[in-house]
Amino acid sequence: MRVLITGGAGFIGSHLADAYLHRGDEVFVIDDLSTGTFENIQHLKTNPRFRYTIDTVHNQPVTAELVDQCDVVFHLAAAVGVKLIVESPVRTIETNVRGTEVLLAIANKKKKKVLVASTSEVYGLSTEVPFREDGNLVMGATTKGRWSYACSKAIDEFLALAYWRERKLPTIIVRLFNTVGPRQTGQYGMVIPTFVKQALAGRPLTVYGDGEQRRCFGYVGDIVEALIKLMDRPEAVGQVFNIGSNEEITILDLAKRVKELTKSASEIVFVPYDEAYEEGFEDMPRRIPDITKIKELVGFHPQMDLDGILQTVIEYQSGRPSNQRLT
Ligand code: UDP
Repeated sequence: MRVLITGGAGFIGSHLADAYLHRGDEVFVIDDLSTGTFENIQHLKTNPRFRYTIDTVHNQPVTAELVDQCDVVFHLAAAVGVKLIVESPVRTIETNVRGTEVLLAIANKKKKKVLVASTSEVYGLSTEVPFREDGNLVMGATTKGRWSYACSKAIDEFLALAYWRERKLPTIIVRLFNTVGPRQTGQYGMVIPTFVKQALAGRPLTVYGDGEQRRCFGYVGDIVEALIKLMDRPEAVGQVFNIGSNEEITILDLAKRVKELTKSASEIVFVPYDEAYEEGFEDMPRRIPDITKIKELVGFHPQMDLDGILQTVIEYQSGRPSNQRLT
């Protein structure tokens, strides 16, 4: 099979590329390196079944050529990371909405199956945990930059579903919950690479708010396996799936765990949300996926627990060479 991965030099995209190449498939990547890095795919350069294009999916002739050459498309190219989104809302909206519009229109010409990566952010301020795919999405005010990410991804979902219903373009939507592992950078706000980096450097671990907010962290290798299985299943078309772990931890406990596993003497400091992000920033107190739907369809069972995940990130940041398959 020939697989196109938009955003393939990103954290999740590069692991997906590794996994497909490992299976013996051919992988094409397009990435504008806005948040992805060449380092993530450097080790694949010499593989004859791997090709990459450094460009944006907005470049229609280039994207059309790549879609033509491939059998299926994973659309992962997007602006991600709460920090980036709050700081660059124009870029977020344009990248996420226009990129998906261009990609779906092109894929539709040849009816190539597309899996669109959405996010658990779309559940917004909903308190109906665990979140089910058919639950309500509760957005905050448009004056709060954070919600532009959720709304742009909700539009992507509507569009992908509309293409399936109206034009019979096979599309699958996945809502990725907090996904972590080697190659993820803390540059755009993600908590685990940030805490590990701080702990290894002996700098204070910055817990935002009171640290009582909870998250579930899924291992990128488990998530990638689920993506591949979904792509292989005809029943997944026209459907939305949560993907993630449902093992919950408070952010304060996470900081303590990182400190223990790194044997770091760093202190833990509390940073008000207004300082960390922007004034009036709203966080979600809990975010747990209901993963019944994906479990039933493809037998999804996350294998790696939180300590295991943290170990892989610690090893990676402690200098493990990047030219090896990590998942
Ligand atoms: N967070 C934190 N310190 C940091 C970065 C993030 O306490 O240095 C918190 C953040 O406010 C959120 C949680 O950790 O409550 C997860 O943040 P992340 O950006 O990884 O993902 P999110 O769940 O916000 O999409």
